[in-house]
Amino acid sequence: MIPGTFDYHRPTTVESAVALLLQLGEDARPLAGGHSLIPLMKTRLSAPEHLVDLAAIEGLRRLEHVGDHVVIGAMTTQHAVINSTLLTDLVPILRETALVIADPQIRYKGTIGGNCANGDPGNDMPALMQCLGASYQLTGTGGHREVSARDFYLGAYETALAPGEILTEIRIPVPPAGHGYGYEKLKRKVGDYATAAAAVVITMAAGTCTSASIGLTNVSETPLWAAEAGRILVGSTLDAATVNAAVAAAEAITNPASDMRGPAEYRTKMAGIMLRRALERARVRATV
Ligand code: FAD
Repeated sequence: MIPGTFDYHRPTTVESAVALLLQLGEDARPLAGGHSLIPLMKTRLSAPEHLVDLAAIEGLRRLEHVGDHVVIGAMTTQHAVINSTLLTDLVPILRETALVIADPQIRYKGTIGGNCANGDPGNDMPALMQCLGASYQLTGTGGHREVSARDFYLGAYETALAPGEILTEIRIPVPPAGHGYGYEKLKRKVGDYATAAAAVVITMAAGTCTSASIGLTNVSETPLWAAEAGRILVGSTLDAATVNAAVAAAEAITNPASDMRGPAEYRTKMAGIMLRRALERARVRATV
């Protein structure tokens, strides 16, 4: 399978990339690692006439601790996320999640920005970003704007990106020291997308849960932030009855498709199981 013909553009600044995208209009797409876009082009599910490669824009690989946030440039690869001591020290769930994305070859090229901007509910990073309360810096010809990851996903392959805009940076509030975390993913085989997956970040104080945030992957047209499920956990000791109620609340917001990964009912139940496992791992890891 070979993609159709297209013109290739390689701007060296964000300004020239967004100007090109605006000028070329609907026929143009940004190209990051190419591991979602090129497969779609090979099967003709996408046929852009212009690809605007972001690879030569140096500023998009920033990886920094700024105040109470970490800032990750959109062109940072999943491999770089896994190998960053800064990220592993401050937000270790990023590494845990990146490690279950695809395989090492794809992670060498695939970027965190491409994963988050793609809008495919099967991507693992978006629900994690919702769990972490991350925000996306979107840049167009008019400058930058910030959109919360919890507001960014509008439908399958539908996001808050306006024509000509690119995702330039992801800002993640650093979770408190001693927080517990877990990303649990059910997949049919290594390298597969999730049948269902759950991201959990909690804090505990003297055995009581003081904060809880939960994201769910691939069990709806968009990633899901399970706000009510998180609220149910706060103030509890994570006893069985409370965990059951939180899992039920999380399952209730899912709406998965029945597909080759299983019927909808099964995938909803698997989301619940992944949440239980991620929560238990987070509880054990929380050090306070
Ligand atoms: P690209 O493919 O280059 O782009 C993806 C889309 O996002 C395109 O529409 C592009 O125009 C747009 N885009 C890219 N960057 C930007 C930006 N900065 N601003 C605006 N728009 C942008 N992913 C998972 O999460 N979990 C998996 O288990 C998984 N398994 C995979 C298995 C296989 C066999 C393959 C081929 C891929 C798999 N992936 C999986 C997808 C992989 O992680 C991709 O790399 C990722 O989804 C997209 O990142 P990319 O850098 O390759 O983006």
